[in-house]
Amino acid sequence: MVLAQLGGSISRALQQMSNATIIDEKVLNDCLNDITRALLQSDVQFKLVRDMQTNIKKIVNLDDLAAGHNKRKIIQQAIFNELCKILDPGKPAFTLKKGKTSVVMFVGLQGSGKTTTCTKYAYYHQKKGWKPALVCADTFRAGAFDQLKQNATKAKIPFYGSYMESDPVKIAVEGVERFKKENCDLIIVDTSGRHKQEAALFEEMRQVSEATKPDLVIFVMDSSIGQAAFDQAQAFKQSVAVGAVIITKMDGHAKGGGALSAVAATKSPVIFIGTGEHMDEFEVFDVKPFVSRLLG
Ligand code: GDP
Repeated sequence: MVLAQLGGSISRALQQMSNATIIDEKVLNDCLNDITRALLQSDVQFKLVRDMQTNIKKIVNLDDLAAGHNKRKIIQQAIFNELCKILDPGKPAFTLKKGKTSVVMFVGLQGSGKTTTCTKYAYYHQKKGWKPALVCADTFRAGAFDQLKQNATKAKIPFYGSYMESDPVKIAVEGVERFKKENCDLIIVDTSGRHKQEAALFEEMRQVSEATKPDLVIFVMDSSIGQAAFDQAQAFKQSVAVGAVIITKMDGHAKGGGALSAVAATKSPVIFIGTGEHMDEFEVFDVKPFVSRLLG
């Protein structure tokens, strides 16, 4: 069913290959090269595509292809499985327990959709009976607190922040302490996404993390950042213990191949995707439909 959705350039490449009378190494290579191009266009990182190509050549036996009539299916299945494998870092994200306080810190570049996603994440859990709270530890961007406040008010979620205080670590600690006292079981800390200098941003993330000791750090990434995904994800992972990824703006044109890079760079699973600007446009991540879209 999912495989039937394979579309666009990839299915054309497979079609061409199955039309060939003899399936030799050249035909398979041409087909894999076409598929590589299509995946690069979907923003899958070059190295991941190249590794996948090597793996597929190991898995796909040319003799089987030459003899059987299911050539397309064999290759489709191999590509599909390889992509799913890249999206599985081998261990699930930290499981939060309802009723037991968890601190979740959000990191990501400005514009990635971090503040919006914090509220979506809080709202999602609130609907499931949690008692979430939002802390705005972004003191760099003017308007960050107002934005969080507005979102939180709309969702009727308690929030904490300050117009005056310029120390993000202080606000984060105060907010977390306050909501622990109020018995909130999901305390979400929103952080800055920009600084005068990049190094300062990562240092700030390290300090906020050290002070609030989050149970989970979620890296938020815009699906349309293309090939920059790996370096960006890796930079955050090097400063804080990223344990999960959320990909935003999946309602746009981007196929979201950067998600594979984010998983590879952070060795953490994607847990949700953002599919719009509204609070409830938020879905639990599901590998198979995601890979189908990537290939389509
Ligand atoms: P931040 O700077 O990372 O905190 O980003 P914001 O939360 O302010 O989001 C930046 C812009 O992206 C805002 O206009 C959001 O409404 C928009 N946005 C966030 N998530 C999504 C999404 O999943 N889909 C769409 N279409 N827009 C989104």
